[in-house]
Amino acid sequence: MSVRTQPLQPLNNGQINARSNNITPIKLKKSKDFYEVPSIQPPQAVQQQQQNLQKKKKKEKLSALCKTPPSVVRTRNGRDYKRGLFLGEGGFARCFQMKDSSGQIYAAKTVAKASIKNEKTKTKLLSEIKIHKSLNHPNIVNFIDCFEDDINVYILLEICPNQSLVELLKTRKRLTEPEVRFFMVQIIGAVKYLHSRRVIHRDLKLGNIFFDPQMNLKIGDFGLASILPSNDSRKYTICGTPNYIAPEVLGGKNNGGHSFEVDIWAIGIMMYALLVGKPPFQSKDVQIIYERIKKSDYDFPIDKPISEDAKHLIRDLLETNPIKRPSINEILNYNWFKGTFPDKINEVSLTKQPEGLDLLSKGQSAINFNLIKANSGIYTPKAKNPVEILKTDLQSESRTVLPKSLSPNDTKLKYKEVDANVYSTKKKIQFNSNFQNSIVNLNSTTMKTYTNIRKMESIVMNGLHDNTREFEITNYENPTLISKWVDYSNKYGFSYQLNNDDIGVLFNDNNTLLKLTNDDQFLELLLMEDEGWTCIENNISNYPNKYKRQLEIVDFFAKYMNSNLSKVSDLQQRKEIVFLRRYTRTSEFIMFEMTNGNFQFNFKDHHKIVISNNGLLITHISPNRITQTHPLLHILRHGDFPSVHLPDCLDKISIIKEAIQEKAYM
Ligand code: ADP
Repeated sequence: MSVRTQPLQPLNNGQINARSNNITPIKLKKSKDFYEVPSIQPPQAVQQQQQNLQKKKKKEKLSALCKTPPSVVRTRNGRDYKRGLFLGEGGFARCFQMKDSSGQIYAAKTVAKASIKNEKTKTKLLSEIKIHKSLNHPNIVNFIDCFEDDINVYILLEICPNQSLVELLKTRKRLTEPEVRFFMVQIIGAVKYLHSRRVIHRDLKLGNIFFDPQMNLKIGDFGLASILPSNDSRKYTICGTPNYIAPEVLGGKNNGGHSFEVDIWAIGIMMYALLVGKPPFQSKDVQIIYERIKKSDYDFPIDKPISEDAKHLIRDLLETNPIKRPSINEILNYNWFKGTFPDKINEVSLTKQPEGLDLLSKGQSAINFNLIKANSGIYTPKAKNPVEILKTDLQSESRTVLPKSLSPNDTKLKYKEVDANVYSTKKKIQFNSNFQNSIVNLNSTTMKTYTNIRKMESIVMNGLHDNTREFEITNYENPTLISKWVDYSNKYGFSYQLNNDDIGVLFNDNNTLLKLTNDDQFLELLLMEDEGWTCIENNISNYPNKYKRQLEIVDFFAKYMNSNLSKVSDLQQRKEIVFLRRYTRTSEFIMFEMTNGNFQFNFKDHHKIVISNNGLLITHISPNRITQTHPLLHILRHGDFPSVHLPDCLDKISIIKEAIQEKAYM
């Protein structure tokens, strides 16, 4: 059911989107610098480039066709964006600041329509948009929107005001190993996410990795990205940037094509460049670069010493045989990552070597490493939902470049998949405060909970009484907890009822349906790989057919639990929306990890414990349902609960600490 798109009409008789015909005067970069050699486009694009620029100078970039957007760009949906400063230029696009009516500033990657008349180039741009739009990861430049006027296509992105790793390296010449370690974890987190969705970036380089305002890295420019239809399929197009190109790409078809390993290779090139100051195969002559790449002809200069552990990892990443390179999961196990590791990178790093990195202890470095890993979404991935580009997405329309499916508002008509994303994004914002809804947050909450318990134990063990205020807490109530559960994971999943009477099923595919009590809503909670939890709200009396079976299962469990199981705790009103993130069963206990960061332990002896508020509070539910909540510090000091006795209280807390520790370091 194709929906015919209309060309964008000039607005206000062309007044608002009127522009001068001048091409923005931008100083072209010196092509000699390694970081500024533009990406090699697939052959079709090159052909197009040649056609378009027949009469122009030989090496002029397509981005040169991009005119400065008008001072106000109005989208089809009537949203106005004020154009701001020029931010930078790639081979294909120029980037400008854009401000929305609320004052929020974005980066608009602006592609001149004049440069995308050719079908293949258009397909490539649409593919870039579709892939980028489907991504959501803390270390990937956030895709906001895309729209067009009669001259340009605009891809609105999260702004990265601190430029890219290229500019950083240009200023600093070389970086310290702790800084590079930090950057590598963030890059690996993002690449792991891409690969889990079967996306190969194919143009990873320092110039495509930007800094957000908090100095976290964000991978951008998905212009050469590609989706592998299956894990064993191969790509044959020769593309990339000379210094970063993997040997198997140079081999082309004869070599059996290339796959995810080209990104691993590029990670190796970047690591080398950041530590040594220039890429390993650098030469003024591109052909010589290629020869060196094929022969693995590089060394570690004596006057730029780097650690043996770093060399070991680089050598493995730059293995000529792609199969011998470490997988994205293996890289972080290398010894090099056991070195000094900062907890964050400050803006100081942009201009000079930060001080005090050597003072970081081994223990603190290990904690920082785990924290940054967690923040970069590095945990066991759920291998599902690879991005799919529908053929229709790539079909071209007459004068518009963007098919309706790629511009907002029209998505519902055509694409359920995109529709769901738009919808869930809305809900995510709405539920954000309730859910602490990303796995990323939950992972750091787990680490914080563990650290707090450990600190409190040490305070009590050492008889300290000062500086304990951060662990004291006066205002608290009993937490939301699981009062009934049925493990039916050999068939459907794990079902639970909370003490606010909401009923959930954590299905075996990791998604959850939560039926809210006394409410006509039910929530679908989806685990979107590294993106974390996404919530879709549905009405119980009118819902899409796909939920029918799942709702039946929820009702089946609800009935079962109501007639067969007794409650752990008395009913309380819903204070927040909470659901079970995952559970762990051992011979001693079952542990529930909740999405509000709480942990519940149901012990074999029928005593239950909940750890809440990042470990500051502990709740005991006795077998006869008496519930008491206290600051954990007090319980550790007294060795038991004040009113109802908890057998082996300190032993249980110790078991809890270890179980949480295990999750924190996962
Ligand atoms: P191309 O596809 O033409 O290579 P890029 O995606 O590399 O385009 O963008 C071109 C330039 O625009 C970048 O080198 C950078 O200077 C700037 N840029 C791109 N994305 C952003 C962003 N999110 N924030 C700030 N500047 C950006």
